[in-house]
Amino acid sequence: MKSNFEALGVSGALAAKLAEHGIEEPSPVQQEAIPLVLEGRDVIARSQTGTGKTLAYLLPILQSINPELKATQKLVLAPSQELAMQIVREAQRYMEDEVGVLGLIGGAAVKRQIEKLREHPRLVVGTPGRVRELIALKKLKMHNISTIVVDEVDQIFQLGDAGEVNRIIDSAMRDRQLVFLSATINGDIRAMAGREMKNPAEVGIEPERVTAAGLEHYYFVCEERDKVDTLRRIVRQYNPRKAIVFVNVTDTIGELEAKLNHLGLKTAALYGDADKVTRATVLSQFRADKLKLLVATDVAARGLDIEGLDMVIHFDPATDSEHYIHRAGRTGRMGRQGTVISIVTERERFIVRKFSRDIGEEIHERILRNGMVAEPGSASVRRPAPAKRKPEAARPAAPAADKGMKEASRPAAAAADSGIKQARPAARKGGQAQNGTKSKSERERDRKNKGAPRWLKEKGRQPE
Ligand code: AMP
Repeated sequence: MKSNFEALGVSGALAAKLAEHGIEEPSPVQQEAIPLVLEGRDVIARSQTGTGKTLAYLLPILQSINPELKATQKLVLAPSQELAMQIVREAQRYMEDEVGVLGLIGGAAVKRQIEKLREHPRLVVGTPGRVRELIALKKLKMHNISTIVVDEVDQIFQLGDAGEVNRIIDSAMRDRQLVFLSATINGDIRAMAGREMKNPAEVGIEPERVTAAGLEHYYFVCEERDKVDTLRRIVRQYNPRKAIVFVNVTDTIGELEAKLNHLGLKTAALYGDADKVTRATVLSQFRADKLKLLVATDVAARGLDIEGLDMVIHFDPATDSEHYIHRAGRTGRMGRQGTVISIVTERERFIVRKFSRDIGEEIHERILRNGMVAEPGSASVRRPAPAKRKPEAARPAAPAADKGMKEASRPAAAAADSGIKQARPAARKGGQAQNGTKSKSERERDRKNKGAPRWLKEKGRQPE
C-alpha cells in the first residue's frame, strides 16, 4: 500500500526517509503544493511558518533533480542566513548525496563558496545578495536551473531585496518554474508573480487565519521602566521551556541580555550585526535547551524553526501586524500550542488593539497580581509554578483557564497535572464566588492582607 506521501507523487525512497524522521502524514500545505510543484506548475503558496512549508517545496524539487546532469538545477532563496542554513540542513536529511546541496549566505567566505560551486551542487540555497553576487561573478551558472523557490517572499520585500530577486529570476531561462511562499500575500507580491509566473496555481491554507491555530495571545501593561521586571515575572509564571524575546533595536540588546542573566534567566542575544560564528553558537545553545531566553531582533529571528519553543514575547511591540505574525509564528509550529505575549505601556495599548483586529484573533489582557497571572477585574488565585516539567506534548503553555474551547480537547490529565488554576470573572461561571477556588491558607492570607499598606502586603508575599 502506498504511504500518504507516495499518494501525492513522492517517491518511495523519499517517503521512507521521511518515515525515518517520523514524518508520515503530509501537512495541508504539503498536500496541496507537492502535486502542483511535481507537475512543474508555477505556484504561490500562502503558508504560515511552522506548517511544513519547507518540505512542501523541497520534496518535489529534490525528486525532480536529474542525477546524471552535473549542474546546479534548483535554487532556493530565503530572506535570512539562518533560514537558508535551516533549509540546507533539511535538504541534506533527504538527499542521497550530501554534497548535492550548498548554502550561499552573506557573512561566509565567498572564496570557499566559489570552490564548492565547482563541484556542481545540484541544489543551491542562499540569501538574495550573495546569490546575485555569485551570478554576477559568473560562478553560479543559471542556465540549467529549472526551479527557483522564493521562501518568505513577504520578508524579502520588507528587507528591500525584491530587486535582487527580480534580477536573479531574470538571469535564469524563461521556462524555469517559480514557486513563491509567503505568510501574507500583498499587492507587491502579486505584481511580481504576475510579471514572472505563467498561470500560477494558488495554494492558500486557511486564508482567513494568519497565525497558527494553536496560539494564545496575551498582553501585559506596565511602565516602561518596569518592563524587565514584568518580563521576569511573566517567565516565572508561565515557565516556558524557552522563549524568544523580541526587541526593536540592537543598541540596547546587550544591556537587556545582561540584566536578564543577572536576574537568573539564562539568556543570549541574537542580532544581525553579530558575526556568523557567534550567531550559530547562540542558536545551537538555544536549540539544545541550554538557554531559557533568546533576545532577538526581527531580522535575526526570521524564519527560525526551534523545536520546543513554546513562547514568544514582544518586549517591544512589533512595528506592524506583519511583524507580529512573523514573530508569533516562531511558536505553535506544526499544530503545537504556543503562547504569544506582548509587554506594552499604557500608551501602546492601541497597538495591541490594532494587531488584534488585523490578525483576527483576540489578544487578551492579563495582569500580574499577588504572584499570579489574572484577568483584569477578576479575583486572583495563586498559581504555583510547575514543580516538574511535563512531557512536551502534554504540557499546556499557558494558564489553563485562558485556553477556552481548546482546553476541552486536551487530555484531562494534562490539564489537571499542570497545577494551573486561574480565576475567571464571576459572570462567566454563573456568578460562582471566586473564593471557591482558593485554598484555605490563601483565603487566610487575603483576609490578613485586607487593608494593609501595599509595602506590607509585598513583604508578606512569597517571591514570584
Ligand atoms: P516548516 O514550516 O517548514 O518550518 O516546518 C516546521 C517543522 O515541521 C520542521 O521541523 C519539519 O521538519 C516538520 N515537519 C514538516 N512536515 C511535517 C509533517 N508532515 N509531519 C510532521 N512534521 C513535519
